[in-house]
Amino acid sequence: MSDYSLIINGEKVAGAGSFDVINPATETVLAKAPDTSVEQLDQAVAAAKAAFPAWAATDNETRKQACLQLADLLEANIDDLAQLITQEQGRPLQAFGGQGAYFEVGGAAVWCRSNAELELPVEVLQDDDEVRAEVHRKPLGVVGSITPWNWPLLIAIWHVIPAIRAGNTVVIKPSSYTPLSTIKFVELAQSVLPAGVLNVVTGEGEIGSAMSTHPDISKIVFTGSSATGRKIMQSASVNLKRLTLELGGNDAGIILPDVDVKTMAPRIFASAFTNSGQTCAALKRLYVHESIHDELASELVAIAKSAKLGNGLEEGMDYGPVNNRDQLDKVISLAEDAKAQGAEFLVGGENHEGPGYFYPLTVVTNVKDGMRLVDEEPFGPILPIVKYSDIEEVIKLANDNENGLGGSVWSSDIEKATELAMRLESGTAWINNHAAIQPNVPFGGVKQSGFGVEFSTHGLEEYTSIQSVIINKG
Ligand code: NAD
Repeated sequence: MSDYSLIINGEKVAGAGSFDVINPATETVLAKAPDTSVEQLDQAVAAAKAAFPAWAATDNETRKQACLQLADLLEANIDDLAQLITQEQGRPLQAFGGQGAYFEVGGAAVWCRSNAELELPVEVLQDDDEVRAEVHRKPLGVVGSITPWNWPLLIAIWHVIPAIRAGNTVVIKPSSYTPLSTIKFVELAQSVLPAGVLNVVTGEGEIGSAMSTHPDISKIVFTGSSATGRKIMQSASVNLKRLTLELGGNDAGIILPDVDVKTMAPRIFASAFTNSGQTCAALKRLYVHESIHDELASELVAIAKSAKLGNGLEEGMDYGPVNNRDQLDKVISLAEDAKAQGAEFLVGGENHEGPGYFYPLTVVTNVKDGMRLVDEEPFGPILPIVKYSDIEEVIKLANDNENGLGGSVWSSDIEKATELAMRLESGTAWINNHAAIQPNVPFGGVKQSGFGVEFSTHGLEEYTSIQSVIINKG
């Protein structure tokens, strides 16, 4: 028997089975989550399909108000949701730089409000004696959302809210590591949305896979690894589903020699270690000019040593554990490979005895491109610092990676930094910051980091198709 239920057509539905959700800080069972059968997925999609015509026909103001009410609901339940996130995901309630579980719920409300204010007005391309030509944006139908475990609630909101704002209905499947905050949100949302508009199913990859082949799902919005993204793209061909794929990142940050090290070090640290490095657009490869390499490295080490790592429910924690055993094993394997190749671990690098999937905040030097720790996305609390002398060489190295999510250049010469940053092959280029996303600016990847964008009107448009209306006046 599970402690949580699926939500299908506005009703709580018991799962066909159940699975354990583990608290990564303690390795104890936090709750039993419902497992979904393929028949139950079909029921959820059928409910979303049935709810679509009426929801698509609601006026703009109704959908706008729904998004605003969902923001209020998130805020009214912030304590419960933050507690759930900390326990299923690991991030402290409050955390270094304020980016804890409370920040995630607060951010979710901000994104709801921002989407509420977006509009997709009819575009008039021509209006003369002969023809009036208009471009209308129409919702797609049932959107399938598949989310990862790193920012479970915020990413769910990034998928669900623009979808329903544009008039679609949704079936969401959260990661089986972190399903609880999403189930709780969908449960709360039933008081705002008509039955069937937002449904939640849970389970592992098989249910995600069944969603990608489902004939009645018109679009999949997916955030997760590039490997899974490729599988989804293959399955989605059965009915030509539209796709937004937000995939892995291995972002480079380039520090020019004129950077004020003391001022920028805390911001660089926060950009790399946010959520213990488990953030898609975190700074994951740090290229530092040789003239300031040692000074910056020692500042980062000092911050790592002063930061508190532990169970996020305890007061004063800055960082939590890695979310799950597989991810911890990946971090350890990249670290051990770097050790074997002579990398220097300035802080961290020791394996934790447990309980809990903890890995210390780790700063590594004497590394270079070609080592797994630099080439692959660690998605954990470990930062390789590569020393460079030639900026042209470093731009080449930064771009010589299959990922292209974000990138940054840090300098007191903004003009020069901007010019260099725009040469990065990435969906977002930051100057003197990294991983700082905002709801009014599109976000997405290039190369193996995926395609399509989220946020802003550009993101909202991805939940629509165009209908051109051409009126012949002759
Ligand atoms: P993952 O790909 O293993 O899982 C993501 C989701 O896909 C889960 O819900 C999972 O159950 C589901 N899934 C697994 N196999 C599937 C299949 N065959 N078909 C359909 N769905 C399937 O990713 P993860 O380990 O949960 O997340 C970490 C990865 O996500 C990292 O690479 C990270 O960079 C990336 N990420 C990207 C962004 C972004 O915006 N670009 C944001 C967050 C995380």
